[in-house]
Amino acid sequence: MAFLKLANIGKIYVSESNISVGIRGVNLEFERGEFVAVTGESGSGKSTLLNVISGMDTYEEGELYIEGEPTSHYIQADWEEFRQKYVSFIFQDYNIVDSFTVLENVELALMHIENPKERRNRALELLRRVGLEKYLKQRGSKLSGGQKQRTVIARALAKDSPIILADEPTGNLDSVSSREIMELLHEVSRDKLVLVVTHDFGEVEPFATRHIRIYDGGVEYDRILRKYEPVSDGVREKTEKPGLKKTLRQGMTLGSTRFRSMPKLTAFLCILMILAGVGLFVITSFCGELFLENETNDIFQHINGRLVVVRRDGSPITEAECEALAQQTGAENYMRFDYVLDTAEYRGSLNRYVSWQYGYQQDFGLREGRWPVADDEVALRVPVSARRESRGEYDDSDLPILLGSTIELGGLRYTVCGITYTADNTLPLLARFTESGMKLLGYSLYLKSTEISSAILRADLVGKGEDSESRVLDSKSMELNLYNFDIVPGEKKILYWSELDELQAFSGKEKEADGATINYTLDLFGLGRRPDYYGYGAVRPDFSASRSVSVRLDGVERKTVDRYGPSFALSSALLEEIMEDFIKDSYSQSSLFFKNDEQARAAVSKLDRSVYFAVLSNAKQASLDGAMSRLFSVIGNMVLWLGSVAFLILFVSLSSSKAMMATRGDLAIMRSMGIRVPVIRFAVYMQMLFTLIPAAIAVAVLALVLFLTPGLNAAFMFLHPMGYVLIGLGLLLVALAVSKRHVRKLFRDSVKKTIKAGGNA
Ligand code: ADP
Ligand code: MG
Repeated sequence: MAFLKLANIGKIYVSESNISVGIRGVNLEFERGEFVAVTGESGSGKSTLLNVISGMDTYEEGELYIEGEPTSHYIQADWEEFRQKYVSFIFQDYNIVDSFTVLENVELALMHIENPKERRNRALELLRRVGLEKYLKQRGSKLSGGQKQRTVIARALAKDSPIILADEPTGNLDSVSSREIMELLHEVSRDKLVLVVTHDFGEVEPFATRHIRIYDGGVEYDRILRKYEPVSDGVREKTEKPGLKKTLRQGMTLGSTRFRSMPKLTAFLCILMILAGVGLFVITSFCGELFLENETNDIFQHINGRLVVVRRDGSPITEAECEALAQQTGAENYMRFDYVLDTAEYRGSLNRYVSWQYGYQQDFGLREGRWPVADDEVALRVPVSARRESRGEYDDSDLPILLGSTIELGGLRYTVCGITYTADNTLPLLARFTESGMKLLGYSLYLKSTEISSAILRADLVGKGEDSESRVLDSKSMELNLYNFDIVPGEKKILYWSELDELQAFSGKEKEADGATINYTLDLFGLGRRPDYYGYGAVRPDFSASRSVSVRLDGVERKTVDRYGPSFALSSALLEEIMEDFIKDSYSQSSLFFKNDEQARAAVSKLDRSVYFAVLSNAKQASLDGAMSRLFSVIGNMVLWLGSVAFLILFVSLSSSKAMMATRGDLAIMRSMGIRVPVIRFAVYMQMLFTLIPAAIAVAVLALVLFLTPGLNAAFMFLHPMGYVLIGLGLLLVALAVSKRHVRKLFRDSVKKTIKAGGNA
């Protein structure tokens, strides 16, 4: 049985315009140990013969036997295995991977060796044998023709395949190098079957064992020149079916080599992926709401351990009742007028809702200052963007919030005595007051709400007539704008300024001169109100004033806030008195506070059959509308996010397509060496996956920059771990999808076509 046998082999090329014969009726037998010179005119079919033997070209007629086994039934994968096992190819135009070093080129053929060190040593040994030990780190593209062929020969030896096919290996070399290469080839391949196509028979004559001349696709003559040492042991059993693990490992090795040895392509891919990472970061931040808990269905502000209580008959709960309830249920604290807890004031510039709290709520950990001790002090937790130094000057609330600054909440002024900045700008703002400070805030907010407008408030008005010249008083009306710039404990006063006579006219009450002070009693809400105007009573319905007013109160020059025009100022004591009076028989909801929700829940059952109805503050309102709108927003965000990922895939893929396709020649060379397609495929994936590392670093750097830059903190939605997971997934998706597109294009054409078309270019 011949080692390799061609029985009546025919190969016909069919193209659009014509049919040409590559080879026909070829009957040849070869043994290992032979060194066969193949000659013939150009176009006679020499290359076709070699291509058929290597399985790079299919044959239409006859049968090719390897170690007695017919091959006509082979499919692509079989040929790959065949090449891997039997064949090394040496081309005229040097089939080495230009971007790889000499060493890497040889190691390519040694991938079956698992240990990298061992692999390296074997490669070094082979390169010494072909005389290239001085050029190990030289890139393929920097080598001379002779050196390239030496590398290819070393690689062929590395593969240790029994057949070496060399198609005019010296075609591009000068005669001295040609001779050297042929000698080398002969010397290192004594136990192999070598078929060398040459146009110069002279250069192989000294050692060729056989000479085949091809003419017009057929064998013109076939001559034995000298004896050779036949090698008889078979190789077929030698290789086992490569498993998945091996494929992955080899793909990984090859992928990392590709990543390292193509700096330009690698850098380019990395830049693209970094852009993708940054893009994903922005998009994920933009779609951030998608991953935040949506609280639109909440009825109350949930505080751990808060229980909301009402009377079943709807009547207000008295202070005494509250106290008794707290005792009965073992609550730590209670708040009869808990309006403020469920009120959130929108702070435009901060773009977040403020949650109010006092002592019984969880600490938010102060970074600067201290907790409030006075009624007009507040401790805040705000996003770090609230700290930025220069912002619009037109509005109080646009000023940076710093320790010691004054902020306006609910029409009251507070000094920031303690503060914590948080980089997580999705957290709600928290404002913590003293218990009585919070009460005042509640009163103030409630007074400003529309609910109270139907009620009649009685209030003492105290004005100072002689101050009228210092006022800017073109205002013909007055809004109720509570503004406690003058809280004097114990003092019961509402301070106001306006045209006193007009006010008197409206009030219809008597005016009492009492030294410098004129006391009025004013039926505020009996005077008429403008529902469209901030929701509370204005003295005069047809006028809206909106400018700041200076006024001297108690000899001190004051200025109101610009927004609301003329204002009332209430002392806190008076405010409290008015509100106590009012809520006494109008406000029906109260809150009890327990250590935690667990205890609060236990209290619910205690109150089960009483006159009270209690519910935990985490109760949610079942609302179809809310659920629908949430669903739509989630779907919308998801579509937006996925669309963006798809765009990034397209962007990265199109941008890198050309550069990637330029490596087709390299891949074809690897395939011609018998490196299996799955390995190369996986290597392309790996090469792309490696670019995730710089992309991840870029995302981390961006996150850090955002974290440290207050201004940016306002623009970007803070990303929680889930957000980063999503970015990671998105990047992975991009890398995989882009690799997939590339792989599909890279492997569209056959090896031979790719080698012919692209070569190493
Ligand atoms: P050689 O290597 O001896 O110069 P080839 O084997 O390349 O000759 O070519 C043999 C014949 O087959 C030629 O007539 C050539 O035109 C034809 N041929 C080779 N490759 C192809 C191909 N891919 N498509 C069409 N015809 C081909
Ligand atoms: Mg040829």
